[in-house]
Amino acid sequence: MVLDLIISFVLIVSIIGHILFNTKINLLTKEIERQRLMINDYAMESALFVAIVEMMEIFGKDISIEETLQRVTQSISNFFKNETIIVQLFGEHFFQEIKGENLNLPEETFEEIATNQYPILINNPGSFPKYRFLEEKGISSFILAPLVGKRNQLAGVIGIFSKDKRNFTQRDLSLLRMISIPISLILENAELMAQTKVLSITDPLTHLYNRRHFIDYLNKIIKQAKEKNFSVSLAICDIDYFKHYNDTNGHLAGDRVLRDMAGILHQSVKGADIVARYGGEEFVIVFPETDKNTAYRICENIRKKISEIKFPGEENQPEKDLTISFGIACFPEDAQGPEELIKKADDALYQAKKLGRNRVVMTVNQL
Ligand code: GH3
Ligand code: MG
Ligand code: MG
Repeated sequence: MVLDLIISFVLIVSIIGHILFNTKINLLTKEIERQRLMINDYAMESALFVAIVEMMEIFGKDISIEETLQRVTQSISNFFKNETIIVQLFGEHFFQEIKGENLNLPEETFEEIATNQYPILINNPGSFPKYRFLEEKGISSFILAPLVGKRNQLAGVIGIFSKDKRNFTQRDLSLLRMISIPISLILENAELMAQTKVLSITDPLTHLYNRRHFIDYLNKIIKQAKEKNFSVSLAICDIDYFKHYNDTNGHLAGDRVLRDMAGILHQSVKGADIVARYGGEEFVIVFPETDKNTAYRICENIRKKISEIKFPGEENQPEKDLTISFGIACFPEDAQGPEELIKKADDALYQAKKLGRNRVVMTVNQL
């Protein structure tokens, strides 16, 4: 009897002990899970912090849109390792940067997805007819956030695509949205910088390179020519009796001629050759790795073409024709550096004018 009581007592105590022990284990397991989530949170937060710092570093830097996109996708991959990340810009220039696999998503489809203008989280693309094509490409889930540009317009999208049946959460989506804001700003800034750069080297009337860019380019090419031992030809050309043309036909007609001539010059060169507006009605052509005779042939063709074109009002010109004269010099045979090369080409142009205009004159080698 006493023994029974003792056995019962021991049993009850061990059952209670077991229950208490299990409860404790459950509590501990929950605590470990909580800690794990916290560590995940900290990891995410620090990744977010690192990404934002990386973005700040890109901001205002003189780097191309392509490189900006590359850095941006790199930053995003801090959060979404092993996933395919696609950052795509719309608008005038279409840019796409892919980290991971190229899914070859058609532009229109991507654009269509993005027109919603709010973030999307899809863990079962096959259930939506419009996203079924993604499942056919092996995509099991994806999240997408819009990149909003000027005047709140859609500038592009960021998409994270998983092939590993990853369950994206609202938290992942919030993270993507959070990071999409600095990304939009950086990309907009990169685009503005690129536009400013183009403007700073472009002549507004003719859209040719301006004098500053010509000088920079000539200096750079001659430096290379000295190192690699090649020739650089330079042509300076000037419209004949252009003051007369302006005086008889008006300044606006003169401007039109300048634009037309610029177009002809631009179309007549190729490769590393550049055409720039040197001054009022003077243009320059830099021909890297080109000897003087080749440059002469090209300029002679341009001269003929311009002479054959009927410009409005040219019948009132002294020679009843609107023409152009060229002076050509070549590095290293005529000059030792860029300034001297310009001077020699200019002297040759002066000779062309003196000899009657509408002609191409090469510097006589005096070195
Ligand atoms: P030459 O055959 O000796 O070169 O005679 P020219 O009349 O062409 O030369 P000049 O240097 O005396 O005159 C250049 C003229 O080019 C003066 C100006 O009316 C015109 N010009 C310069 N810049 C512009 C421009 O941006 N637009 C227009 N319409 N005309 C310009
Ligand atoms: Mg002139
Ligand atoms: Mg002139």
